Amino acid sequence: MPELRKDPITGRWVIISTERGKRPINFTKKHTPLEEGAFCPFCYGNEGVTPLEVLAYRDSNNPPNTADWKLRVVPNKFPALQIEGGLDRSGDGMYDKMNGLGAHEVIIESPSHDLTLGDLTEYQIEDVFWSFRDRIKDLRKDDRFKYVLVFKNHGEAAGASLEHSHSQLIALPIIPKLVKEEIDGSKLHYDLKERCIYCDIIKQEREQEKRLICENDHFVVVAPYAPRFPFETWILPKKHSSVFEESKKATFEALSKITKDILCRMGKALDDPSYNLTLHNSPFTIDCKDYYHWHIELMPKLTHVAGFEWGTGFYINPTPPEDAAKLLRDTVW
Ligand code: ZN
Ligand code: ZN
Repeated sequence: MPELRKDPITGRWVIISTERGKRPINFTKKHTPLEEGAFCPFCYGNEGVTPLEVLAYRDSNNPPNTADWKLRVVPNKFPALQIEGGLDRSGDGMYDKMNGLGAHEVIIESPSHDLTLGDLTEYQIEDVFWSFRDRIKDLRKDDRFKYVLVFKNHGEAAGASLEHSHSQLIALPIIPKLVKEEIDGSKLHYDLKERCIYCDIIKQEREQEKRLICENDHFVVVAPYAPRFPFETWILPKKHSSVFEESKKATFEALSKITKDILCRMGKALDDPSYNLTLHNSPFTIDCKDYYHWHIELMPKLTHVAGFEWGTGFYINPTPPEDAAKLLRDTVW
């Protein structure tokens, strides 16, 4: 069973994976690129190779774990956290730890091996968001969990280990430090001004337009004022909402359109970069509906995090967000 351990100085939790244990020799071998033509457990016909599906969308009445699916969600075969058991919080002298309890699932976004998320149709992308919503709603019922992070690693540089397009989610028994910092920052603004800080950002960015990339009826895409990375991009719902999984059909339709739009702009402008996508959503255990605003952050992997960043938490970003926004705004795909 993996262990969650808390750094006593900063309060940051880490997952110490026991089963996936690697000896130093495993880390030093030269990186091999994602193999082309290798066996793919996510392709049509290979349903028997993955753990049993927890969710799937099919047009037919075929039984679970057979072909003919449009989207599948399965537990990760090599989970970072384990679903069975209790938390067993305990001390180890001055230190705190608990069992590495959690859910780790893979969303196989389509049966097509070679299509990226941006290549999928708007209907298929909408299904991907519905699956996020369905899984979060289900995991919410498990009172051992406080937060679900949904994320996507696209391309090798972003940490993807399989080529076939997929997203992942990890349900956690704690609220991650970064999430807590965002919630606390939003609360501070709300306490001072009685307004949501994200709603204020959206209003100002739409007025000024210099960091605005694109928008539709329900969403706006901006380069944030102080981005950590070149071409860091946020997708924000225009209407205030703190809980992603409570979104309605029209919201998901608009979200899939705008997601396809920004992914295609990035793909065209930056030559299909590797990227990480993360869904920033409310924790299950904090009522922040007035002051938190769910959104998606998109980070193309164009630079490396190096010594200065690790030592200070400061990021050096060589691309002003105004330039990044202009380039993406002007890109036609
Ligand atoms: Zn495949
Ligand atoms: Zn808001």
